[in-house]
Amino acid sequence: MKKLIIAIDGPSGVGKSTLSKQLAVHFGYVNLDTGAMYRTVALAAQQRQIDAADCVALDAMCRQVEIRFIREGAGERVLLDGEDVSEAIRTPEISQLTPQFAACPEVRTAMVDLQRALGEEGGVVLEGRDIGTVVFPDADVKFFLKATAEERGRRRFLELQAKGVAVDLEQTIAEVEERDAADSSRATSPLCQAEDAITVDTTRLSIDEVLAVMIQGVDKVMSDGGSPTH
Ligand code: C5P
Repeated sequence: MKKLIIAIDGPSGVGKSTLSKQLAVHFGYVNLDTGAMYRTVALAAQQRQIDAADCVALDAMCRQVEIRFIREGAGERVLLDGEDVSEAIRTPEISQLTPQFAACPEVRTAMVDLQRALGEEGGVVLEGRDIGTVVFPDADVKFFLKATAEERGRRRFLELQAKGVAVDLEQTIAEVEERDAADSSRATSPLCQAEDAITVDTTRLSIDEVLAVMIQGVDKVMSDGGSPTH
């Protein structure tokens, strides 16, 4: 059976991470969280006090640092130069900082190269903002998930609250909207839907319902023998 490349794109808080992991488990594939890579770049830059506008320094930094994933059950840990930064990259501060660093073309080139190297063999579910449009435009199956900003903010709020982070609902919704605006308006690889992506509005759907739609979409491509393009 051909091992497919599955792309999942969409704005923050839409359920990409959870669904990507579950879809990968269902098909025995590897999950690749590309947002974690950009978050790690933001953290590394913050530690080195590199400004988001300094793309020359960011380019050099991306060549020096090593970003690695280690699998842990259905999830993974993110390592920056061997140090586990899985929690450090999930703070609200890093969430708000990351789009500024992700807008730097040199950072994107470095991360896209890494993502292609990790995913080209197939048997992978990649989730991000530009997977179906830039990283793997020939992906076998592409999904674009959407949901209202209110619903996505509410989900992010519950997620942070469950982790014990003190958060405000209105502020979390505003931050989600701010992050989407930055990710959608940047010049290089903005968040946008691939023409051939399967769109799923998750606003009123449970994770299981969305997962069922996605599994059906992948099964259909598998029964057709996968995309002929790679
Ligand atoms: O998906 P997640 O919320 O972890 O992504 C964090 C940030 O990383 C996004 O807000 C976006 O700025 C950036 N990102 C990106 N391209 C991707 C994945 C994430 O620019 N493929």
